[in-house]
Amino acid sequence: MNNASIARNAADAAQGKHAIEMIGVSKWYGEFQSLRDINLTVSRGERVVVCGPSGSGKSTMIRCINRLEEHQKGQIFVDGIELTDALEDIVKIRHRVGMVFQQFNLFPHLSILENCMLAPVTAKGVSRQEAEETAMRYLKRVKIPEQAYKYPSQLSGGQQQRVAIARALCMEPDIMLFDEPTSALDPEMVKEVLDTMVLLAGDGMTMICVTHEMGFARQVADRVIFMDAGQIVESSPPADFFANPQHERAKAFLGQILS
Ligand code: ADP
Ligand code: MG
Repeated sequence: MNNASIARNAADAAQGKHAIEMIGVSKWYGEFQSLRDINLTVSRGERVVVCGPSGSGKSTMIRCINRLEEHQKGQIFVDGIELTDALEDIVKIRHRVGMVFQQFNLFPHLSILENCMLAPVTAKGVSRQEAEETAMRYLKRVKIPEQAYKYPSQLSGGQQQRVAIARALCMEPDIMLFDEPTSALDPEMVKEVLDTMVLLAGDGMTMICVTHEMGFARQVADRVIFMDAGQIVESSPPADFFANPQHERAKAFLGQILS
């Protein structure tokens, strides 16, 4: 990008035209560069699937979007708010961006309902009654309201991951980030979690999903992004990506994963 288009993108981003805008983002861990000049615009309601080999920077990229990792170069805007050191902006952005990890990270000593109520009550100051109503609404949405009074260890992996999704939704985010949400699950539980994500996609949620579930990508993604060595090397609609991958590494990757 030239300087004029970078400036124009930054101005658009600051007005909140897009859900997410990353402009020339680079990140290092010590000497090692994990992100190289990432440019990514995600529109409101857009569903993006991110794939690529292990170590290519997928987690790092999405973790930068809610400041679980800090970028050293470039700009990141979420709903028009730029991520800088300003703590109040980081808090605002974290309220708008929900995240679901490979490991479900539920609190073992809290019931499912309490896990879902915790952040709204403690971080947002919502009343317990309202938080409970919201939690039950989202536990119904992910189709496990009957588990509300159990503890995480009493649930299957697939159910725990659906709780983790409900818990993120309880903050009423505008954007959901998923980092390989089905990778830690036994195969028979993958579908129930993907089905939940398909539901969310149908609700019009802006989503970035790091996943190698290519069936899911075909079904719901507006765009597939392929990363290699810290760069976005391909970004295309799923039909094009699967039928006609451009980059050698993308071809090799698809060959492995679809074989
Ligand atoms: P992916 O999610 O695509 O597998 P990651 O974003 O986790 O890749 O990692 C990208 C690169 O950054 C990898 O080479 C990884 O080893 C490195 N990396 C990730 N986290 C750290 C860290 N905390 N410290 C040092 N290097 C890291
Ligand atoms: Mg990862």
